[in-house]
Amino acid sequence: MSNEVIEKPRLWTGNHYNEGIGRDDIFDKLREECGVFGVFGHPNASDLSYYGLHALQHRGEESAGICTVDTTDNNKFNSYRGMGLVKEVFDKDKLDMLAGDRSIGHVRYSTAGESKLANAQPLIFRYRDGDLAVATNGNIVNAPEIRRELEMAGSIFQTSSDTEVIAHLIARSPKDFETAAKEALQRIVGGFAFLIMTNDKLLVASDPHGLRPIAMGRIGDGYVFSSETCAFETIGAEYMRDVQPGELLVLDSDGMRQDRYAEVERRATCAMEYIYFARPDSDIHGINIHSARKRMGQQLAIESFVDADIVIGVPDSSISAAIGYAEQTGIPYELGLIKNKYTGRTFIQPSQELREKGVKMKLSAVRKVVEGKRVVMIDDSIVRGTTSRRIVNLLREAGAAEVHVQITSPPFKNPCYYGIDTPDRKELIASYRTVEEIRKEINADSLAFLSDEGFVESVGGNDGEHNRGMCLACFDNDYPTVVDENSDKSCGC
Ligand code: SF4
Repeated sequence: MSNEVIEKPRLWTGNHYNEGIGRDDIFDKLREECGVFGVFGHPNASDLSYYGLHALQHRGEESAGICTVDTTDNNKFNSYRGMGLVKEVFDKDKLDMLAGDRSIGHVRYSTAGESKLANAQPLIFRYRDGDLAVATNGNIVNAPEIRRELEMAGSIFQTSSDTEVIAHLIARSPKDFETAAKEALQRIVGGFAFLIMTNDKLLVASDPHGLRPIAMGRIGDGYVFSSETCAFETIGAEYMRDVQPGELLVLDSDGMRQDRYAEVERRATCAMEYIYFARPDSDIHGINIHSARKRMGQQLAIESFVDADIVIGVPDSSISAAIGYAEQTGIPYELGLIKNKYTGRTFIQPSQELREKGVKMKLSAVRKVVEGKRVVMIDDSIVRGTTSRRIVNLLREAGAAEVHVQITSPPFKNPCYYGIDTPDRKELIASYRTVEEIRKEINADSLAFLSDEGFVESVGGNDGEHNRGMCLACFDNDYPTVVDENSDKSCGC
């Protein structure tokens, strides 16, 4: 089956921008990385992947792809990738052509300039032992260095994706596939979850710190793997456990074997998964995201209570925290901001005037709810400050008497090198402004951030022995790996 390019201009998609409009044009929110979904041993692997990827759509809206292995037809590879949402890329005919009982799938978000089909995953290669497909969520910190080395040795790269590095490392190794994959994983540094498939094996790996989540479930006699557990609910699979840091699962006709390619150095699941990225109905390490966000809101109220008439949350990620804040304080929770879920692909040009209109297309303040009220507005983070200012101004224009902004994360001061698309440090407002200066800049009556300790407590602790170690580097600058401040830190998927 051939790949088809469904080229789209880079436009507002409802959650973030595609090509043609810069990152800071309307919403300066952080960007999801990618989502991966794997199936092993189920006759409808492509259908399950479709529904699984659809549940992970919030992690990447730019491209989607599925590769299957048909064990009833000489372990043949079938694949299809396209630009756009899962429901736009696939239809029944395409899924029917993806026969097989094993599959890996991917949804991708990428930074500007990389929006092309060649980078859509799963990436598929021919090597000496047959076919090889790779799908990743995350970023390889030392990919540029390995890539240079491989190119010097004669490798020709087909994409600008970091993911290709692992394929070349495997293909160049004289060792058997499993050993080659293990050694390749040992060479790379970063935050990642890998699904690697050949004609007869599926490998599942998490980085040695568990920065990017990946969970395992069962459906019938088969196994499923997903960046988030919400996909298991969608397809009727039963959650089994999270894939452990440094773990390597090998699935083939003999069943599943649990192996390791690295010891756990320090558990460091991305804190922003709990705060912002993951869906509220997902669990990470046994922690439900909605419940954790509610506790963040409760903790904010304990740390920074402000007397007000109503509490509102910036949809969608801050609704749970706003409910928690309201429960803790007794201040009524209200729907003061409504998100228009049907903005779709709007042809907004990045002029100042249209940027402001763009905010109104995406979010509306409910005048009858906020007019004359002292409002506590809960949000998950402040990146550059432009989004917060626009939302505060929306509420003021709708008649809010006071707007108190409370943030469910500590100040976001440092960029991410593990697959979250963040601006450079100098563009992160908390890295160069005090809280009071930020308050003035976003036009709020008061501003408070959740403390580091309060955040950690809300999630359930930061105790590596209890499976809950977190990366907090964007708040405390303590990166779990060596990072190169000058490197390209964009998502490597
Ligand atoms: S630096 Fe921040 S965004 Fe990146 S993995 Fe760590 S916690 Fe997550």
